[in-house]
Amino acid sequence: MAYKSGRHFLQIPGPSPVPDRILRAMDMPVIDHRGPEFGEMGKRVLEKLKGVFKTECPVIVFPSSGTGAWEAALVNALSPGDKVLMYETGQFATLWHELATRVGLEPEFISGDWRHGVDPEKVAARLKEDTNHEIKAVCCVHNETSTGVTSRIGEVRKAIDSTGHPALFMVDTISGLASADYRHDEWGVDVTVTGSQKGLMLPPGLGFNCVSQKALAAHEKSGFKKSYWDWGAMLGNNASGFFPYTPATNLLYGLEEALKMLLDEEGLENVFARHKRHAKACRIAVEHWGLETLCQVEEEHSPVLTGVVVPDGHDADEIRKLILDKFDMSLGTGLGKVKGKVFRIGHLGHFNDLTLMGTLSGVEMGLALSGVPINKGGCQAAMDYLAETAD
Ligand SMILES: *Cc1c(COP(=O)(O)O)cnc(C)c1O
Repeated sequence: MAYKSGRHFLQIPGPSPVPDRILRAMDMPVIDHRGPEFGEMGKRVLEKLKGVFKTECPVIVFPSSGTGAWEAALVNALSPGDKVLMYETGQFATLWHELATRVGLEPEFISGDWRHGVDPEKVAARLKEDTNHEIKAVCCVHNETSTGVTSRIGEVRKAIDSTGHPALFMVDTISGLASADYRHDEWGVDVTVTGSQKGLMLPPGLGFNCVSQKALAAHEKSGFKKSYWDWGAMLGNNASGFFPYTPATNLLYGLEEALKMLLDEEGLENVFARHKRHAKACRIAVEHWGLETLCQVEEEHSPVLTGVVVPDGHDADEIRKLILDKFDMSLGTGLGKVKGKVFRIGHLGHFNDLTLMGTLSGVEMGLALSGVPINKGGCQAAMDYLAETAD
């Protein structure tokens, strides 16, 4: 590979760039994971972690990707053959649905067009029909990373409550947590699933399950065989800050630093406002260029990423390739059925006004060089908005 000077722009919606101070916090000796120093660190991190989920419930940390945490959620709280209700918001919802099928559940999929979030009414309508309560869980993706659509999880909760149905509520916020507002307790979520490499600004390698009392009660009755993923052994060990097997020690050092940045220094509400503002500026540029966002609902635009639809006759992956070759920036590819039709701009995590402007400049130059008909000046429009709203 030819040498490239300056820093690579990793503007995919996860993994997101890892701040230098998190890398430095991880650049420490591995310690005895059964020793006293580890136990103290484990207790501190597990307790503080609850803050980002807005919960009093335990948060379980697996050395895994987000996919592992998806599987853990299902096999701990459910039993083989259980019906679960899932919602097709995009590719990640589709993959979770496939995983559920493979582990032996019977998921039902409410179909969607990948341009809207979960429709709470449709969930309620399906639950109302289920008078025998055969559906054991409702599973939704909060921030659909393949499309840039954020579902209204609080409203889905209200819809479930309106039916009086006892199903568990499981939510994937792998790309939403610590970027988009999320409230495990207030929204009555039973299992929240997330990962380390998106809003938490860590390298890939940690998967999380935040579990309610109701989910823990369901775990007692779960008929799935599991060992590595079992919440029971985890929670037993976690009480004293330990883990049943070797944890990802250095990622936990990084997590402690990330929590300090998010909770103590910037503050979660400021983190959310920052993401919303950057998403808005990004959309102003996209609109100015005369392109469409994949998301079609004003209040469902993701603060984490923007999915941009390329006009017919152009291939989004060729535009991405040109931008990578010429400007050393990675943008997210179109996933699943929108491959080639969409590219995704990540504006999450370790990010500021000038990172956004660097990103949008690369996109505007790349679109023009690719021969996509655009109105130039999207960057200027985004800058005007950022300047007006700077504090
Ligand atoms: C990234 C992501 C996943 C998959 O996580 P992995 O760490 O790649 O296993 C699942 N769901 C959503 C919404 C994601 O953004």
